[in-house]
Amino acid sequence: MSAAAKPQDDAAILDWALKDAHIPSLMMALVHLTGSAAHLTDDMKPVYDFFGDGQGGFSAEKQQAIRDMAKAAMLAHMAGKPLPPPPDFATIRRMMDFIAGAQIPERYVPFLKEELGIAVEDTRDPKWDTPKLKSAAAKMNVVIIGAGLSGLLCAIRLQQAGVPFVIVEKNADVGGTWYENAYPGCRVDNPNHMYSYSFEPNHAFPYHFSTQDVLHDYFRRIADKYGLRAHIRFETTVEEARFDEKTAHWHVRVKTKDGRHETLDANAVISAVGQLNQPKLPDIKGRDTFKGPAFHTARWRHDVDLAGKRVAVIGTGATAFQVIPEIAPKVDQLLVFQRSAPWLGPTPNYHDKVADGKKWLLEHVPTYGKWYRFWLFWTLTDGILDAVAVDPAWNDTSRAVSPMNEMLRGLLIEKMREQIPARPDLLEKVTPDYPFGSKRSVRDNGVYLAALARQNVDLITAGIEEITPNGIRTADGVEHAVDVIVYGTGFHASDFLRTYEIVGRGGAELHERWKGDARAYLGMTVPGFPNFFTIYGPNTNIVVNGSIIFFSEASVRYIVNCLKLLAETGAATMEVKSSVHDAFNARVDAENLRMAWGVPNAKSWYKNAHGRVSQNWPFKLVDYWNATIKPDPGDFVLS
Ligand code: NAP
Repeated sequence: MSAAAKPQDDAAILDWALKDAHIPSLMMALVHLTGSAAHLTDDMKPVYDFFGDGQGGFSAEKQQAIRDMAKAAMLAHMAGKPLPPPPDFATIRRMMDFIAGAQIPERYVPFLKEELGIAVEDTRDPKWDTPKLKSAAAKMNVVIIGAGLSGLLCAIRLQQAGVPFVIVEKNADVGGTWYENAYPGCRVDNPNHMYSYSFEPNHAFPYHFSTQDVLHDYFRRIADKYGLRAHIRFETTVEEARFDEKTAHWHVRVKTKDGRHETLDANAVISAVGQLNQPKLPDIKGRDTFKGPAFHTARWRHDVDLAGKRVAVIGTGATAFQVIPEIAPKVDQLLVFQRSAPWLGPTPNYHDKVADGKKWLLEHVPTYGKWYRFWLFWTLTDGILDAVAVDPAWNDTSRAVSPMNEMLRGLLIEKMREQIPARPDLLEKVTPDYPFGSKRSVRDNGVYLAALARQNVDLITAGIEEITPNGIRTADGVEHAVDVIVYGTGFHASDFLRTYEIVGRGGAELHERWKGDARAYLGMTVPGFPNFFTIYGPNTNIVVNGSIIFFSEASVRYIVNCLKLLAETGAATMEVKSSVHDAFNARVDAENLRMAWGVPNAKSWYKNAHGRVSQNWPFKLVDYWNATIKPDPGDFVLS
């Protein structure tokens, strides 16, 4: 954060703000400000290293030279000089490679142009602009289930398309995961300038990785801005969605807050209920016998004061990792029960505020924010996927899956060692015994290991045998007495759409069809369930790369274009062909086996009870984007 207060005159404001600039993004903005790319010379190409600060490796002198150029250009801009015409596509293409510090493959270019807001067309904007489409839209009625980030996004796009809709939401407010998860330390683990809708940047995000309250507020403000609350049935749960073959409509049975049942009629249902919102309590003997308060992180008991208590946290996944440093200083004793250690990804700015100067640049320097988002996307998503792909020539996948993965393993262990040099015992316990990428890694700025190294914290790796009235007994026979148990034990992730029944053609129920092995075409649509779509469905989760908002935007675009196909063709229903669905799933399965999370020895909730990876998208993000631009009519039976 810039310590000095914001000055008053333009030159001083620029000096103050440019101190906090992301230099590679500033270099791109400079092209837009001046109309010249002359400064993009070979000796000024950014170079990134895995654990670097992202500033491109420029010397202080080079950074200052860029700042000086940007200051002169911005002074002219602020004095009223009009912007030159935007760079041509050849220049933009060159700029992409330049800021990425790598040759960006051609198949990324349409997507990245759209992200930059310089595409010929924004494929995510519905544009139902002909009289025929407008009239067809008005005759539709869609039920969206869930008012989290995907449901709200869907509503915005349907509103833009002129399609009437209602959202059914079980909670009393919008926000989904950011409404429900209010545990201490809860924050996003994707940089916010990427974890936000592409069309709704928030230059004022206070943190690089926002806390739960900030994100909840973001989605609340979105709901207000687009007037969505009037369309939401709060505190209403969906019990069943049933397809009526005679009318080709869905009947959605809901239960209202006061216990009444109603049936909503819809020509299409869009399920946006999330993957990680049904808390999973572990199946441990004696769980119900514990005398004290015991709760899941997603149902945090704010009425239970942990101060001075002996507290057990079961689990060391992404959630517990955030909880532990927050509560460790407050409790008398903290016992952390670890079954597997998470990989820690060094992220020094994880808890840092966005510097005020940077916020100013995001707000005022034309295209700077777009290029910054672009840079985040490129460096944090597909760029890293190769490091978690299995090398077929690599024999033993128990610790690593490729030479690059093995190298990363070494680097990450070294980073841990640096944090706790005097605690080889702790280092041994926190070193994962599986390859990096087999499970989601967590973002580390040092607070986690510092918490585990505290006097009042114990990391217990002996397996849990039983929960007793007074605590937890481990396999070594020790009974650990505690006052409170916190379950950071994750969610029923494989059990997709588990909260309601979905009955399609011929009375087939979707869960009975799936038999615990959920599959869908592009994660969205299933044969036999016409006009029923899911967002964040099977095989659309990501492990190391990207933000789930990216998937939501791509899915919503596809679903809205499915409805557009109905409007264009006059068909009442569309249903994906089994052959298309099966071939897609075969491709996904084969590719998942090539990834660190799919190898036979990898154990995680990404695999369902059948051992199949039903959660993850194994390809690059751009492949999902390209596959979901619009439906191929040949993939569907339209009737
Ligand atoms: P999780 O990743 O499923 O972690 C659950 C933890 O509980 C694991 O350490 C697991 O051990 C342990 N566990 C489960 N059953 C157990 C048992 N019977 N005995 C002992 N330990 C047991 O759940 P999560 O931490 O809630 O995270 C879920 C997902 O939510 C994340 O992967 C991420 O996608 C998302 N998330 C995101 C954020 C964020 O954006 N900031 C924050 C939190 C969560 P094993 O590893 O051995 O199974």
